Amino acid sequence: MSIPAADQAAPSVAGPTANSDHRYSRQILFRGIGPEGQTRLARARIAIVGCGATGSALAGLLARAGVGTLRIIDRDYVEPSNLQRQSLFDEQDAAESLPKAIAAARQIAAFNSQIVVEPKVEDVVPANIEVLLEGMEVVLDGTDNFETRYLINDFAVKNSLPWIYSAAVGSYAATMNVLPVETTCLACIFPDSPRGIVETCETSGILNSAVNLVASIAATETLKLLVGGTNAPHLRKTLLSFDVWTNEHAEINASKPRPGCRACGERDFIHLAGEGRPHITLCGRNSVQIHERQRPIDFTEMDRRLQPHGTVRHNDFVLKFWHDPYEMTLFPDGRAIIKGTTDTAVARSLYARYVGS
Ligand SMILES: [Zn+2]
Repeated sequence: MSIPAADQAAPSVAGPTANSDHRYSRQILFRGIGPEGQTRLARARIAIVGCGATGSALAGLLARAGVGTLRIIDRDYVEPSNLQRQSLFDEQDAAESLPKAIAAARQIAAFNSQIVVEPKVEDVVPANIEVLLEGMEVVLDGTDNFETRYLINDFAVKNSLPWIYSAAVGSYAATMNVLPVETTCLACIFPDSPRGIVETCETSGILNSAVNLVASIAATETLKLLVGGTNAPHLRKTLLSFDVWTNEHAEINASKPRPGCRACGERDFIHLAGEGRPHITLCGRNSVQIHERQRPIDFTEMDRRLQPHGTVRHNDFVLKFWHDPYEMTLFPDGRAIIKGTTDTAVARSLYARYVGS
């Protein structure tokens, strides 16, 4: 007795350039997409800001789904500690310290050579965001910090560009679609970035399953937006959060802007103007100073959090943290001096990782 396999109708040997219909046949069969939807995806242009864990998962899913142009923007390089969750990278990438945007583009080309990937090895800042996000239909959040998210939010609200907030830390994941002026924006729901010690992947760890959950949800919302536009049926208008370890989950209504919101109400784009960013200056030979002064630091707690990542010492006045090849000196008000680099992007990245963003 023979059991017909699902794939039996397909030729048993596909040519080296299997045509798109064949590649996407199972997705086209899905009623929410169909042949027209697939054509729209092929013409779509989206940006993924940050290609760490969430960005990798988003890029992998959307590249396989046939989104025509993916612009992948990341300032960092691949390290061995990324491999537990950053699904587009391998041991060779880490050995070569390849920029993540480049490594991601190479990996995607190996499984879908029919789409265009534009890797950008850059830190998104007020001065370049316009150029980096020009011509994009949707912007996806693969960042690990609120500073960049507020910048994306300002840019997106100003230009009526849909974007999707995604975050994962520990076993917790959260995501929200932002359809400017129509729904809640990031500044409606979080008017100011969290102060004091915030959880980061470097201090609280992260489960790869929390990342993949949030990326799956955000990637699906992206497909709905690209196929059906901002009025697409089933587009979610909530801030959704889920803890994959405790199974606690919540949905907060995000269908309307908050009256008086700085960004989408008053259209006061302080992050786009650069006013919301901590001031960073080169400070002496081979060191950078971060003039953040609104983040009171509890040295005992910070000492405990940093212990697994290097050598830490503190007294009442300063906390010193050695993380080869860098030495960070933290002050009680949140100011920091980072020795071992003159690159402000590196210093900002270290600060965001170990102190908070
Ligand atoms: Zn708002």
